[in-house]
Amino acid sequence: MATFTEQLKAWRREFHRTPEVAHTEIETTRRIREILEEHDITILDIPLKTGLIAEIGQGDTFIAVRSDIDALPIIEQTNLAYASEKHGAMHACGHDIHMASILGTAILLKEREQQLPGRVRVIFQAAEEVSQGADAVVKTNVLQGAKAIIGFHNDPTLPVGTWRAKTGYMTANVDRFKIEINGVGAHAAMPQDGVDPQIILSQLISSIQTIVSRNVAPYEEAVVTIGQVHSGETWNVIPSSGMIEGTVRTLTPEVRDLVETRMQKLCEGLALQFGASVALDYQRLTDGVNNDEALQTLAWQVAEETGYDVQLQPRAQMIVEDFASYQQVAPVHFAMIGSDSKYPLHHPQYAPDEAILDKVPYYFVNFVERLFERVR
Ligand SMILES: [Zn+2]
Ligand SMILES: [Zn+2]
Repeated sequence: MATFTEQLKAWRREFHRTPEVAHTEIETTRRIREILEEHDITILDIPLKTGLIAEIGQGDTFIAVRSDIDALPIIEQTNLAYASEKHGAMHACGHDIHMASILGTAILLKEREQQLPGRVRVIFQAAEEVSQGADAVVKTNVLQGAKAIIGFHNDPTLPVGTWRAKTGYMTANVDRFKIEINGVGAHAAMPQDGVDPQIILSQLISSIQTIVSRNVAPYEEAVVTIGQVHSGETWNVIPSSGMIEGTVRTLTPEVRDLVETRMQKLCEGLALQFGASVALDYQRLTDGVNNDEALQTLAWQVAEETGYDVQLQPRAQMIVEDFASYQQVAPVHFAMIGSDSKYPLHHPQYAPDEAILDKVPYYFVNFVERLFERVR
């Protein structure tokens, strides 16, 4: 008979072979359901298209543990025996590791169900990579009243057996902006008849960088990156319009407000200066994951007790993680746990070390038990 960890590895490989990208996780959800049902674990009747929520325990108090389940639209290049069988889809963010770990957690909690003084809702969440899945779960109200919501991400930059987290921001607020400029097109030889959007674009590109260098305080952090610039079709025409699009990453609500306000002012100023329309569409996509202080203290202790090399996360990472949506309903805690890969997350050769599966389920079981001692 396979040991528990071997079983988790086998499930992880199965998920790895059959990745499904955001919103299409039908088979993945079916398989998770099957494994949970084989272990007599209750699955809640929640209207989610993909993903599901299981429940273990009894009583009024409840806490939640979360795994994401979606893959990425990437062509895998690992040459692993269990590489993706779906061309153009790959578990390159290690959500297969997350699923196996949290299935393991659910099974271990089920074995201890009689001793649990409350309920644990185990979230298998779809569509993390498009930042929509966590919101969808929150909107079902199934987490209303939760005392805490906990989760993790595998971190290829850390050795297996390493745990890292900090109080406050673990990941960044992530926003997307688009600026559309409407001037007046003209013959390239008669600029006096037009309003050239490309002059405005070029000024905008450099002025936007002054938000970080001149408006954000030197001891604060922000990233403003323009990812695309478009204007014009040919060499001898002044086009009538242009656009830029990019992303803003910040680590406090104040800096987030500041960047958006400054960007708006720059657009208004350039519109006035050149007599064009400069319209900003600023979308706040995802908040930064903001770890609760008391949960961080407890998680630290639990990680030590589980045998991790426990380290303080030195700074937030400027990445997206939609786990942040859960902090709308309860205090949250999110840790980075080492998976030691040569290649980074989202790389076509990403290959986490499966030895990460040895400890993660026990970390979450210990965390749940210690949480119940606190919140009962
Ligand atoms: Zn990812
Ligand atoms: Zn991920």
